[in-house]
Amino acid sequence: MSRRTPTLIGLPYDASSSFRRGAAAAPPLIRAALASPATNAWSEAGIEVVAGRDYADAGDVDLSDSANARATIGRAIAGVLARGGRPISLGGDHSVTYPIVRAIAPDLPRLTIVQIDAHPDLYDEFEGDRFSHACPFARILEEHPSVHLVQVGIRTMTGHQREQAERFGVDVIDMRAWSAGRRPEVRGPVYATIDVDGLDPAFAPGVSHREPGGLSVRDVLGIVQSLPGPIAGADVVEVNPSEDAGGVTATVASKLVRELISRMIETAGA
Ligand code: MN
Ligand code: MN
Repeated sequence: MSRRTPTLIGLPYDASSSFRRGAAAAPPLIRAALASPATNAWSEAGIEVVAGRDYADAGDVDLSDSANARATIGRAIAGVLARGGRPISLGGDHSVTYPIVRAIAPDLPRLTIVQIDAHPDLYDEFEGDRFSHACPFARILEEHPSVHLVQVGIRTMTGHQREQAERFGVDVIDMRAWSAGRRPEVRGPVYATIDVDGLDPAFAPGVSHREPGGLSVRDVLGIVQSLPGPIAGADVVEVNPSEDAGGVTATVASKLVRELISRMIETAGA
């Protein structure tokens, strides 16, 4: 495989979830759905995405020592980058995105992050935890002021987080703006972070915080398929198998992963 190979890496971690655990169990189920003979290996763009040939798999990171999880995640992502990979992380709760971006951002001074989410995740702290899954983008934007964050699918904005969004210059495309036709305009390099609760729970019920009125699978596929290159990395987080219905959410996540790999390959020359 060539350098800059899309590389799956599982982050089975949910100790920073504020409401309900369970997302740590998601990575093997997303992988199983990706490999399922119920579908084939071709993306909608007509690119065949075969494990071991078109993308690598670094396996799951051992995060049983949850007190040191962020440092462990940072080292694991740095390892993928050092081997020439482009990480596609399988969460885990959304707190994992902070150590991931921390490993990626220093090499990318004009990085844009595209976040699909029902929630802004911009709290300065949540229930006393500055590293909660409700806070990762506050930490990222404090440390990396040059990062441009674009959020799509937001429908739970609070007064505090609106102030944070203004303070950090976040481009928030909430669901009302999305429904009115606003779309993200992004330049690469880009990092894509997909919290599956950005989708409507009708499409993705297996999440810890169901928030009605969200994006369709088709909406999110359209965003992924129009991401500009280069795509420095991506994550799909917050699938909670204990809340899922017949594995439908893991299947949705696996399709998003396949399309992310395909788009990374398609835009690799950008
Ligand atoms: Mn989130
Ligand atoms: Mn969310």
